[in-house]
Amino acid sequence: MKRTNYIIANWKMNGSEKSISLIKSIQIHIAKQNIHSAKVIICPPFTSLSYLIKKSSNLIKFGAQDVHYEYSGAFTGSISSPMLKEIGVKYVIIGHSERRQYHKETVLELNTKINSALSKNLKVIFCIGEKLNEITKRSSILKKQLSSLPNSFTSKNIIIAYEPVWAIGTGKTPTVNEINGIHKSIRRMINQKIGSESSKISILYGGSVGPHNARNILELSDVDGALVGGASLKSKDFCKIIDSSI
Ligand code: PEP
Repeated sequence: MKRTNYIIANWKMNGSEKSISLIKSIQIHIAKQNIHSAKVIICPPFTSLSYLIKKSSNLIKFGAQDVHYEYSGAFTGSISSPMLKEIGVKYVIIGHSERRQYHKETVLELNTKINSALSKNLKVIFCIGEKLNEITKRSSILKKQLSSLPNSFTSKNIIIAYEPVWAIGTGKTPTVNEINGIHKSIRRMINQKIGSESSKISILYGGSVGPHNARNILELSDVDGALVGGASLKSKDFCKIIDSSI
């Protein structure tokens, strides 16, 4: 089954309008290499999204790093799906482990966020992954996290990113065999929910992906792209990761 490959940059709390230079250099690279086989998505902080979208070509799509579950109201500091939609955002990361950890996001809250995003036609990049002390019960942890997804979804509105928490920003990764095996088991889990559509869902790997290991990870049969943190802030490294996907 041929699935869409995504290379997604999560800038976290980094970058500004000045980062347009980084976007431009990535765009130039994509145009030069004539890269069509991977969709490149950048997720900057809320404050620079609108500016960067206006200044970029359509070789790159943009995503937000979070969204609130309500459309509007008394939720100081929050941003809603209609607000993202209004400025041209197409994707949104939901359930990143840093949000689960620092903002105590629960399975139920994540379900409401996903529903809000889907109702506004934002494509959800849903992150799941176990902590270091949860490796032995990985399967049940991932199953529980996946229960935030609605009963019915398709490859048109959901991308899954498997990100072991212990691999994020640490330089450590599971072995390539482990990554492929875990992705296969995630696909089996979502098959129980959505049946044969599960074969079309892109499952990305995230956690210390860099130019040194991208090719070995991205060539795996069950890996359909990467969610990249640290290495997405340097044009040279990120472009090498994009190249590794073709
Ligand atoms: C992330 O935060 O989603 C991530 C994968 O980070 P890093 O690539 O830095 O490990």
